[in-house]
Amino acid sequence: MRAMVLEQPGTALVMRERPVAAPGRGEILIEIAACGVCRTDLHVVDGELPDPRLPIVPGHEIVGRVAAIGEGVAGFVPGARVGVPWLGATCGVCPYCRDGRENLCDNPVFTGYTRDGGFATHTIADARYCFPLPAAGDAAALAPLLCAGLIGWRSFRMAGEGRALGLYGFGAAAHILCQVAAQQGRRVYAFTRGGDEAAQGFARSLGAAWAGGSDETPPEPLDAAIIFAPVGALVPAALRAVKKGGRVVCGGIHMSDIPSFPYRILWEERQVVSVANLTRADAHEFLDVAPKAGVKTQVVRYPLADANTALDDLRGGRLQGAAVLIP
Ligand SMILES: [Zn+2]
Ligand SMILES: [Zn+2]
Repeated sequence: MRAMVLEQPGTALVMRERPVAAPGRGEILIEIAACGVCRTDLHVVDGELPDPRLPIVPGHEIVGRVAAIGEGVAGFVPGARVGVPWLGATCGVCPYCRDGRENLCDNPVFTGYTRDGGFATHTIADARYCFPLPAAGDAAALAPLLCAGLIGWRSFRMAGEGRALGLYGFGAAAHILCQVAAQQGRRVYAFTRGGDEAAQGFARSLGAAWAGGSDETPPEPLDAAIIFAPVGALVPAALRAVKKGGRVVCGGIHMSDIPSFPYRILWEERQVVSVANLTRADAHEFLDVAPKAGVKTQVVRYPLADANTALDDLRGGRLQGAAVLIP
């Protein structure tokens, strides 16, 4: 098998040849058809997340087919299409796991961070955390649903039922969520980097009622805002845009520092919350919702060997939609 490997944070991924391993108990071997590139991969590669397992194969939006099955696996057959998300495994016994919040597990395993992920031709995953995917359809188009979609969905649920929703940062997650929210009849206000007319046009084409720069005031006060861009300064900006009782949801795993802000923009029961990881229940729910909402992902394909170019394009904000690696 071939894999793009991170040997040291802050350095480029390198292509390595490795033997294909056999799946252990409870595991499946997957032949990868596509793997999305998420901003979290960028944070891992850039050394912005603590203690990655090294060397590590990044990538946690994996779509492939079951190539081999370990002992004790139920629910998968060879050749079946399967998806692997960020949540690679949980302990099952900590207080969070026991009360249905496995996304906050004290001893989790994360795909592409603490266990090898999908920037490769093959990977091994814990079958209990993989999802069956429809046999038909383009693998590359499905890949972004596995994290941008799932984390976007968890963020969306956290944002509540309000009709006026702001999305800060119009990347892979927002481009999926915008379609779901618009389909539900919500008014989506998309915030991009100032002057990024391409991204603003893209947002409007996906159902946003308005699109503008993140320093602009939306045409109506927002019920809630979700921040996907890793920019701490957007927290006070979003607080200023939400109405009384409004909620600002931070959907990313890492953000630059949040600048200090006057208490009055938090007062009147505004809230700032964060979303961490996903539960398997989130995934089952969203993988059912996405096709019903008619979600169509826009992807930019890169050969596996060009993973560093894909990461650079994401870092530089040069992507519309989601980057996907094809082995
Ligand atoms: Zn746990
Ligand atoms: Zn991700």
